[in-house]
Amino acid sequence: MSTQLTGIAASAGIAISKAFRLETPDLTVEKKTIDTIDEEIQALDAALQTSKDELEKIKEKTRQDLGDEHAEIFSAHLLVLSDPELVDPIRQMIKDEKVNASFALNEIANQFVAMFEAMDNDYMKERAADIRDVSKRVLSHLLGKPIVSLAEINEEVVIIADDLTPSDTAQLNKKYVKGFATDIGGRTSHSAIMARSMEIPAVVGSKEVTDQADAGMNVIVDGLEGNVIINPSDDELAEYRQKLADYEEQKKEWAKLVNEPSKSKDGEHVELVANIGTPNDLEGVINNGAEGVGLYRTEFLYMGRDELPTEDEQFEAYKKVVETMDGKPVVIRTLDIGGDKELPYLDLPKEMNPFLGFRAIRLCLEKDDMFRTQLRALLRASTFGNLKIMFPMIATLDEFREAKALLEEEKSKLLSNGVEVSDNIEVGIMVEIPSTAVMAPQFAKEVDFFSIGTNDLIQYTFAADRMNEQVSYLYQPYNPAILRLVKMVIDASHAEGKWTGMCGEMAGDELAIPLLLGLGLDEFSMSATSVLPARSQISQMTKAEAQSIAEQALTLNTAEEVKQLVEKTFL
Ligand code: PEP
Ligand code: MG
Repeated sequence: MSTQLTGIAASAGIAISKAFRLETPDLTVEKKTIDTIDEEIQALDAALQTSKDELEKIKEKTRQDLGDEHAEIFSAHLLVLSDPELVDPIRQMIKDEKVNASFALNEIANQFVAMFEAMDNDYMKERAADIRDVSKRVLSHLLGKPIVSLAEINEEVVIIADDLTPSDTAQLNKKYVKGFATDIGGRTSHSAIMARSMEIPAVVGSKEVTDQADAGMNVIVDGLEGNVIINPSDDELAEYRQKLADYEEQKKEWAKLVNEPSKSKDGEHVELVANIGTPNDLEGVINNGAEGVGLYRTEFLYMGRDELPTEDEQFEAYKKVVETMDGKPVVIRTLDIGGDKELPYLDLPKEMNPFLGFRAIRLCLEKDDMFRTQLRALLRASTFGNLKIMFPMIATLDEFREAKALLEEEKSKLLSNGVEVSDNIEVGIMVEIPSTAVMAPQFAKEVDFFSIGTNDLIQYTFAADRMNEQVSYLYQPYNPAILRLVKMVIDASHAEGKWTGMCGEMAGDELAIPLLLGLGLDEFSMSATSVLPARSQISQMTKAEAQSIAEQALTLNTAEEVKQLVEKTFL
């Protein structure tokens, strides 16, 4: 008997493969008194050796897939494993106190972690993080509960997990990972967004997939409808193979539009651009015929490593993106860390409400050294193409003015040192916070452009955590409350001769596109894979039809009424 679960369609496509469960084992240790000291020491040595072998393999694979720099972290882990200052005291404790190896390992590792963390030195804090990671690995072997690493997958699978963090998602290898399904998450959680740019079919928020799918079971992930089918029958398999074939056909039709302009039926041009997380995503941008980059989420450059990227590393990444886009617009967003995107090495305190906390521009204005480094890298890259700078999570005019002043300061310093900087860099903000949408007429006098970040704007307008599937019904892009805010922003920008884009997921949503076109949105920035379907859709409607539907929608009462209106008219 098959089991069908319904979740949130997070990334289009269909995957049919064996389940691979990604789990974090329970590594709690118990203290035991032992009299078999030699056996405990042997067990410790064996666990150390297995961990070393494992790390060597992961390091080599990371080096091949992602390069030397990413592999460095595993060299640091290997050094910890061979460090007598850590390992000898563990052996000593087993002998002196006659305790089990797992207990001794945990005790000594915790002592080192606490000691390094207390030091006011970033290098030592990073060593604390290394020791914590490595000791977990050794402990997992001592307890016989090995930690499975995504980097080690070497056959075709569908990942089943409670949740995937953005850094887990970044490690997924498309060759083997055909899709994923999680218990928690929403359409705008970053793992979902990344799955779309990696073109990995995904369903999130299916609540109980980890209860239902055992390792090795056959699983279908239907990222088009948001369904997960566990142990499908032969009929279901045949049905989904057909659905997959139809989807591939549809993609071929869309692909014909790759070099076509994005125009409405009556010839009005709209800009269809793509969101990227890393320079590697540019291939998708180009293959899908996007007319530029509307959002480069630079935080991924800061993730999956154990220290801040240097100015030069950042400069190279930004330069690569603007150069590859060859004069087409590239909007680069300054660091937006926080919420579901963490940087362990910054050692920020745990927060009760991370999405409402010390994040993005708030953090950058406080840690201004880090921010200035990024601004310099951006300014230096500006001469290599059409680079625009965008600040995330702006809540007040003062924040914008402060960020802009830092940018101006860094620009003057670079110029006075003879470094070339473009003299027409547009500087804009994301509109993600209702206060900013309401104050758009005032902001419009000072910014060069707006880009509406609906993923956050919707969560803050409805006070509904974007990661929490229990409140995912409040992700309501078509609700007139959101449409009215969007209209306020667009109208305010046009009144000052500025432009408005949208880089939240709503911009690529087929039900929202007619409304946004009608409201006068200038630029639509979406996952690269949505560009061609959007181009096809826009070519089939006139601007006047879109305006009429948007006007009607603004007078309606609920998201459902708006949805029905659009469906009735266009789909
Ligand atoms: C948004 O909030 O809509 C947005 C594009 O930013 P992010 O998804 O990275 O928070
Ligand atoms: Mg956001």
